[in-house]
Amino acid sequence: MIKSPRGTRDLLPPDTALWNFVETAVRDVFRAYNFHEIRTPIFESTELFARGVGEDTDIVGKEMFTWEDRARTWIEQLAGLDEVIVRARQDPAYKASLDTVKLFEEYFAPGILKAQSLTLRPENTAGVVRAYIEHKLWDRGLNKLFYIGPQFRRERPQKGRYRQFYQIGAEIIGPAAAGSQSPARDAEILELLATLLDRVGIKNWTLELNSVGCPADRAKFNEALRQALAPVVDKMCADCQRRAVTNPLRVFDCKVPEDQPIIETLPTITQFLDEACRTHYAEVKEILNAVHIPYVENQRLVRGLDYYTRTAFEFTHGALGAQNAILGGGRYDGLSEALGGPAAPGIGFAIGEDRLVLSLMETVSAESVMRKPDVYIAPLGAGMNREAARLARELRRHDLVVELGDESFRLKKSFEAADKIGARYILIVGGDEVAANAFALKHLASGEQVTVPRAELAQRILQTK
Ligand code: AMP
Repeated sequence: MIKSPRGTRDLLPPDTALWNFVETAVRDVFRAYNFHEIRTPIFESTELFARGVGEDTDIVGKEMFTWEDRARTWIEQLAGLDEVIVRARQDPAYKASLDTVKLFEEYFAPGILKAQSLTLRPENTAGVVRAYIEHKLWDRGLNKLFYIGPQFRRERPQKGRYRQFYQIGAEIIGPAAAGSQSPARDAEILELLATLLDRVGIKNWTLELNSVGCPADRAKFNEALRQALAPVVDKMCADCQRRAVTNPLRVFDCKVPEDQPIIETLPTITQFLDEACRTHYAEVKEILNAVHIPYVENQRLVRGLDYYTRTAFEFTHGALGAQNAILGGGRYDGLSEALGGPAAPGIGFAIGEDRLVLSLMETVSAESVMRKPDVYIAPLGAGMNREAARLARELRRHDLVVELGDESFRLKKSFEAADKIGARYILIVGGDEVAANAFALKHLASGEQVTVPRAELAQRILQTK
């Protein structure tokens, strides 16, 4: 038997009803905050993640699904050259900048039919910022974008941790002049998240908040960490020993229980924040207080990605056990520049949709959010399938959920089928009914049966929703 690959799973009904319930609620919330959807490719150049997430993060270092794509053929390369020629004809500045040597190297030199390294996206922020740069979205001022989709990481699978998982995320990004750097954006994102979790029905979440400062603060902090780690690092796990050299900040990602007492003693970033970062952080907290969003400060929260600046946060939920982070996010003011774009401060988050649904299952059953059929149509005898099909078509136009039986079924079998799928009504379509153009409609829970003229059927079924 062929099974789904390790760390992936099939989402089946009725569970998918819960996923759709979540996504519908989330889309409503995004609408109220004037966010619009963006869909970026599921795979991107490997380089995007190496630069946008960080070479020495666990994600880029160990967890990406990467492959060498087949090299472009000569024909494809020549098609590329075509585009260059067209552009050169249209744009004199571009033409002037073309370097024949470069052209030759790229399109004609032998041995340049290079394969391209591609990667299934492990997260979506890098893709959104790539799109921001590629489509010059700064022309639109402040961009408020959201996405819902699969992400891929080669992690050890366990409850709440998969190799294909889903994220619901959002980003606010734009030129500083459009207000993208304001602490009001951070607070708006956090207040949106509180609203979203409440709306979906997740109770008892905790917002953990920190500021990781700007690059200069982090350089000072990294130095202090390096010094603090030097005498103790040989007692820590292999990953931490590596981190202590390459990027000491990442020591805070360590989940090894034996290392935690040492990590507790390390200095925290808070002491190293400069005046501007401190003021920014204070203002975020002031706005949260004003809108009554509770939070706890966690000075060890540094998040898994390198490009974060200032505000960093996570929402956790008790029901999730070890994998208790339901979402994470933060500010990434330097990311656009790291990817070769203009300065574009931004802040965003990603909710683990799998974990959101898992938490929700504590209190809401998938069955309860699944829409059951309003009516089961039971064609009775030869030639009745086509009559049933006509009726189903009419009723479905009234937004009723209709299930169709088969003319070969006996009435008893149709009743059993209607019962099994939880239909509210059964509608019997036999020769007599068709002749009279009025049909037997039975309410399954009460057993009450009435004969209803065709023209009144939909109204009648809708009335007792
Ligand atoms: P991150 O991009 O690592 O900050 O992840 C954001 C959120 O995505 C986390 O808080 C989790 O809820 C979720 N998440 C991350 N990795 C996984 C995974 N392998 N399986 C399921 N959910 C995940």
